[in-house]
Amino acid sequence: MPLTHLDLDPEIAETCWHEILDPRRDMNEKLGRPLNLRTVVCDYFCSIDKGFQNPVVVDIHVFESHLNSMKFDSLTGLYTRTTFDETLKREISRAKRYDTELCVLFLDIDDFKQINDVFGHLAGDMVLQEISRIIRQQIRTEDTAGRYGGEEMVVILPETGKVEGLILGERIRECIEYLDFPYEDSVIRPTISIGLATFPIDAQTATQLLRCADKALYRAKAKGKNNVMVYSRDKRRFLRVNFSSPVRVQQLGFDKQSGQWRVNGKNISVAGILFESDQFLEPGTKVQLQIALNETEGPLWVVGTVVRVETFESSHYDTGVSFLELDKTAKNEISRYMSRQLEQTASTA
Ligand code: GH3
Ligand code: MG
Ligand code: MG
Repeated sequence: MPLTHLDLDPEIAETCWHEILDPRRDMNEKLGRPLNLRTVVCDYFCSIDKGFQNPVVVDIHVFESHLNSMKFDSLTGLYTRTTFDETLKREISRAKRYDTELCVLFLDIDDFKQINDVFGHLAGDMVLQEISRIIRQQIRTEDTAGRYGGEEMVVILPETGKVEGLILGERIRECIEYLDFPYEDSVIRPTISIGLATFPIDAQTATQLLRCADKALYRAKAKGKNNVMVYSRDKRRFLRVNFSSPVRVQQLGFDKQSGQWRVNGKNISVAGILFESDQFLEPGTKVQLQIALNETEGPLWVVGTVVRVETFESSHYDTGVSFLELDKTAKNEISRYMSRQLEQTASTA
């Protein structure tokens, strides 16, 4: 056991480790913060094992620096991808629990290969470090920045919507645009492209959310680089029309007859539906909806995810459901319904 001056038999040392680390994990969870390893080791040997009469703790810093190197990227000082992924999952759970938004920025240095080719790999490393420093400087303490790949970085902004996320993204982009990075006899002027996506509007899982932000980043590159793009689906998907007919709802997986209840529609689009319900549905819940678009044809069955819930009059909930992949027939039926509604609105206007 290299952590103390005690010369322990390997088998006993292993038992000690378990007796130190297992309760520490439980306590960490209970307290909601990590307990200092030094404290826990001292506590164990002073009060439990009693083998620690003349406490000298050595080499813990080696162990802790090893833990740190798993947590932080050595070149940039940003969180490693593993730590970042864990944090994103945790933040999404928190956003679900507290019904808040969360924004993710995906950042990629423009023409970084060229910077390496022209100025050398060392210069590239320094630019990467400087850009990471700027990102860390611009974000709040509750935000998390990680190095995702070579010259790709990601930022989690808890309790942040699209507009605030865009403002921060623009600020980071601008800081980097105005950065003159002196290197030997030259000046390197790097730029950065950013893609932005938000939970729960764009996606409900960590993987999907990052994919959306990455897609937005791809559009930022396609638009000429050095800009921030906000993720959005096909624009037509955002066109919505009033739809005030009753809709039948049931949670996915429940018995068709017994688990159903009736709600009143408010509006509909090919991307989703908004209805008023007296039952609360947790965002993220998968539902199956029976929508009667007209009297002549049978009702449409669609599956979707609850993406937002707003409470009004204490027990009424405006519930937004985003459709999961609609089949072609369903999409056509909704599109036809929307066209009719739009024509009627136009003729009565
Ligand atoms: P784009 O604007 O489309 O992003 O072009 P790009 O040149 O930045 O992208 P590409 O993916 O072609 O090249 C990324 C380069 O980043 C290639 C790789 O050698 C370099 N790179 C990745 N990690 C590091 C690093 O840690 N240090 C340095 N100096 N270069 C790195
Ligand atoms: Mg890249
Ligand atoms: Mg790049």
